[in-house]
Amino acid sequence: MILQRQIWLRYGSAAVAAGLAFVLSFSLHRYFEGRTFAVIYVPAVTYAAFVGGRGPAIFATFLCLCSSAFFLEEDLYTNPANLIDVAFFAALGPILGVIGNRLLRESEGARNRQAQLQSILDAVPEAIIVIDERGIVNSFSVTAERLFGWSASEMIGKNVSVLMPAPYRQEHDGYLQRYRKTGERRIIGIGRIVVGERKDGSTFPMELAVGEAKVGADRLFTGFVRDLTERRSQERRMQELQSELVHVSRLTAMGEMASSLAHELNQPLSAITSYLRGASTLLNAEKADKDRIREVLDRSADQALRAGDVIKRLREFVAKGETEPTIEDPATLLEEAAALALVGAREQGVRVALRCERDLPDIIVDKVQIQQVALNLIRNAIEAMEATSRRELTIGVSRRDDFAFFFVADTGTGISPEIARQLFQPFVTSKASGMGVGLSICRTIIEAHGGRITAHANDGGGTVFEFTLPFTGPEADHE
Ligand code: ADP
Repeated sequence: MILQRQIWLRYGSAAVAAGLAFVLSFSLHRYFEGRTFAVIYVPAVTYAAFVGGRGPAIFATFLCLCSSAFFLEEDLYTNPANLIDVAFFAALGPILGVIGNRLLRESEGARNRQAQLQSILDAVPEAIIVIDERGIVNSFSVTAERLFGWSASEMIGKNVSVLMPAPYRQEHDGYLQRYRKTGERRIIGIGRIVVGERKDGSTFPMELAVGEAKVGADRLFTGFVRDLTERRSQERRMQELQSELVHVSRLTAMGEMASSLAHELNQPLSAITSYLRGASTLLNAEKADKDRIREVLDRSADQALRAGDVIKRLREFVAKGETEPTIEDPATLLEEAAALALVGAREQGVRVALRCERDLPDIIVDKVQIQQVALNLIRNAIEAMEATSRRELTIGVSRRDDFAFFFVADTGTGISPEIARQLFQPFVTSKASGMGVGLSICRTIIEAHGGRITAHANDGGGTVFEFTLPFTGPEADHE
């Protein structure tokens, strides 16, 4: 407590004030001719009361009364006027002391509250800037100093617009003026993301929320500023990591399909070899049958194109590219994905039915990512049917309100209840060599495209996976 800490100072000041009053009395007492001169002592007691509170005020009163007795001698009690004067003065001392005490406590309380508020303001992660109606900075927190590179002493009294880059710097006064005139709120109580400028001229994204307060006739605006640079770079990093993960999972899927793919490529290559050998034999014949040779060579070229097609699709699928949304036809998109995903399926005895509705509206999607979803679902379905004798796979797309509705239905083992509960969670797998990330990536991709993915049991046994993607509607064009 300040009142206790400075006890010597408080009583010392009271003694000094009483001493000064004594000196003054000493030099003036001959003019007063035996009358009390309590009026000289009142300022000393008042001073002691306001500096030290009740105790020092009473102490000063006592010293002044002693000094009074010293000058008045027997006049003090023989003259009733002096007695009344002294009695009033003796009562005034404690009264002033009580008032001084209260004032001291209040000012100490106010100082404590101010210090508490300041410590809170310094600790909050947001920078806090208070401006008046004309945009002049009244207060600039420590965080604001760190964020903008200006010190509070430099900023207080300056226009807040120095913290904004052009063209906002020139326009800010106009915004304040318009608000004063119309009362129309564009940012107060709403908050938005804006650009700030540091002292060195560099700019950064920041989130700004503004509150308004009326203090007497004045209006103050308090701005809470949060630096978004860090958050933005974290978000970018997360996106990079996610697209890396999505890419790695495509590579993994292809790795798992490597032997089927090798087989798929081997078939046209063997066919080409046979056709070319056939053509060579035909050429060796005595009378070369040109038409026959041409036909054999054409077939061989078809096979080469078929192999080239598989390689092209594979290359597109594993390419590491920036996500680039394109306008796609849902049916074509699904058929292309199925062509890659179904490599080797027929050899495993899977009967495939494609049910793609034609002339559906277009969708705007990252083609490779959506094909990745279809491929994941189709490969899972084929794997689920390895243990069952009925192997029927139905893949298709149709319309459901404003969405393209894709489905992959199998007649496999079905999803076990413990897996079903957390099906789309990462690292949930029932396979010995499974990673369990495929479905969680599918969900991330579909939801990022504004769709939903679900699974339910197939009527005749097995599982149906469904996902939706929004058609490009008029709103999407507008956006
Ligand atoms: P992984 O295939 O590596 O296990 P996924 O996330 O693709 O990872 O699948 C998670 C689990 O979901 C699988 O292990 C499997 O138990 C189950 N599952 C997925 N698709 C099907 C399906 N069509 N039929 C039955 N179970 C499935």
